[in-house]
Amino acid sequence: MGSDGHERFQQMIDETLAGTVPEEQSLREHLEACVECQEYLAATNRVIGGLGGFSFAVDPDLNAKVSASLRLRAQQIKATRPGRRQLVLACVLALTLTAAGSFFDLRLSGLIASIFDLQRMQVQHGLIAFWIVPSLCLLLLFPLLPLLSGAGSNQKERNL
Ligand SMILES: [Zn+2]
Repeated sequence: MGSDGHERFQQMIDETLAGTVPEEQSLREHLEACVECQEYLAATNRVIGGLGGFSFAVDPDLNAKVSASLRLRAQQIKATRPGRRQLVLACVLALTLTAAGSFFDLRLSGLIASIFDLQRMQVQHGLIAFWIVPSLCLLLLFPLLPLLSGAGSNQKERNL
């Protein structure tokens, strides 16, 4: 038998060890007669044994640690995703801040006007433009968020 035959059987040895079992009977018969392929099998087994020993030597706690950290990460992702209740709380908070901020600004505008000797109305217009309007826009954005995300998920469902 030429070297091509040995190559074929050595490839079969690789496949057998990799778990994809080929013509095992003919391989076994060849191995009984062929020293070269017996040595190849033994050498391959040593390599695989060495790799197996190496992976076994890795900290056995590592697997538990990895799965624990993955679980924690999953919980964190779950926690950061805003629920309906959190959105309601955010709306209430935004409304409170807007109302308080606007009230405080209108009160403060009198003080600023007196200090800088400006027309009270001008200061109020400035505050309305730079504080109250942006915060009201932000406030309007909050109830729209669940609607937008809801529309997005509905769109996904339709596509499925
Ligand atoms: Zn052989």
